[in-house]
Amino acid sequence: MIRISDIDFRYPSGEFYLSIPSLSITAGEKVAVIGPSGSGKTTLLNLVAGILTPGKGSVSIGNVEISSQHDRARRDFRITNIGFIFQDFGLLDYLDVQDNILHPYRITGALNLSSDVRERAHILAEQMGIADKLNRHPTDLSHGERQRVAICRALLPGPKLILADEATGNLDPKNKVHILELLFENVDRHNATLLAVTHDQELLPHFDNVVNFNEFLQTETL
Ligand code: ADP
Ligand code: MG
Repeated sequence: MIRISDIDFRYPSGEFYLSIPSLSITAGEKVAVIGPSGSGKTTLLNLVAGILTPGKGSVSIGNVEISSQHDRARRDFRITNIGFIFQDFGLLDYLDVQDNILHPYRITGALNLSSDVRERAHILAEQMGIADKLNRHPTDLSHGERQRVAICRALLPGPKLILADEATGNLDPKNKVHILELLFENVDRHNATLLAVTHDQELLPHFDNVVNFNEFLQTETL
């Protein structure tokens, strides 16, 4: 499902350097990404999503080499095939919760906003415990509620790949396990693949595999 070969990545500014010789994730796998703060976990998710592109090497999702495509193609591929739960949620404050959840359907012709989709959006919101908040704006929600809106938005199109950047990080312990179970249920139902950054050691046994960033960390010799 995800194949990374021999990538190097640097931001235009700053010292950060990420090098990953090889990383493969099979379709249907649930993989946790762990590592110290600042080690590049979010950067990896952005490279997989095609938001960032590597300086060399390749990133492929299924049989699509996303890293060699143009901006527009990467964006369309991402919206239709990848559900990304961003670390900072990426919600739009000027839209209410319902319109945030439906937003992917409004920005690409590849997704069709039918009454069935609206109904599924409502069911998802109910499962996530935010159905009574659909007409509020993100600014009027708690951190944990905003996070659940971001999860609903990512899951609604039924993507084959879900990237979750600390998706349970701001939830209390009871909600954390509940939301993780819902996330896993959705992943299983769609035969999807999950790549999830987490700091929660106790959640690791729920995953099939763990990618530990300590193995990619290196000091550069100039
Ligand atoms: P993590 O998610 O593991 O905490 P990140 O992938 O967010 O780490 O960041 C890795 C490193 O890259 C950090 O040192 C961070 O400061 C740096 N970094 C992140 N974004 C940028 C950027 N846009 N420009 C320059 N450096 C960045
Ligand atoms: Mg991060």
